Amino acid sequence: MVSSYCLLCGSAYQTSGSFSDWLFGNSVIDPLCSPCKNRCHYIQGPICQDCGRPSQVELCADCRIWRTKYDFVLTNRALLSYDSFLKDFMHQYKFVGDYRLRSAFSSELKEKFGKQISQSALVISVPVSRQTMRERGFNQVKGLFAFAEKKMRNDILYVADKKQTSKLDRRDRLNKANLFFLKNKDCAENEIILLDDVYTTGTTLHQAAACLYEAGAKKISTISLAR
Ligand SMILES: [Zn+2]
Ligand SMILES: [Zn+2]
Repeated sequence: MVSSYCLLCGSAYQTSGSFSDWLFGNSVIDPLCSPCKNRCHYIQGPICQDCGRPSQVELCADCRIWRTKYDFVLTNRALLSYDSFLKDFMHQYKFVGDYRLRSAFSSELKEKFGKQISQSALVISVPVSRQTMRERGFNQVKGLFAFAEKKMRNDILYVADKKQTSKLDRRDRLNKANLFFLKNKDCAENEIILLDDVYTTGTTLHQAAACLYEAGAKKISTISLAR
């Protein structure tokens, strides 16, 4: 047993694994204590067929609107509900910038989505802009899905800084509302899985998918930590 401090609430707790395992990196020590982890809600039972949120109806109201806005349907599946716990977690991970939290759900993500990811032709994590990279120092999505790192292609999809577009006039800005762009067309004819941290409004993933479909992607589905 190893003594550790929870990276979310700060309380001390015992974790399984020996000190030498920890020292030599043989076991990933859970960065969250169990009371914190027990606050999260795994998505179970009936879900919206498009966005993957818990839902008693086949298509939630948001997704019915998405279907009118784009000529493709995005199928998202998520591990957790986006609730107050997830808000706290993402705040600490992204904005406080504690990169050690990246492994908090890696075994659960791998268990639920590992097979789907390994069978997919192309796996792309939603990129962060250069500005965000400078400020945060890491891509939070790549961190969460680090177990799939060998499959991930990070040289295809990019996203521009919001600031760059504020200099443009209004018409240009509207045209550039989608900040994603591609640096190569390897997505053409491919089935793609897009990975993201949180599916909130769905805008990010729809825009990223639109960009890939425009370049000839065959089919895109998405996986997020939370919905
Ligand atoms: Zn805790
Ligand atoms: Zn939905």
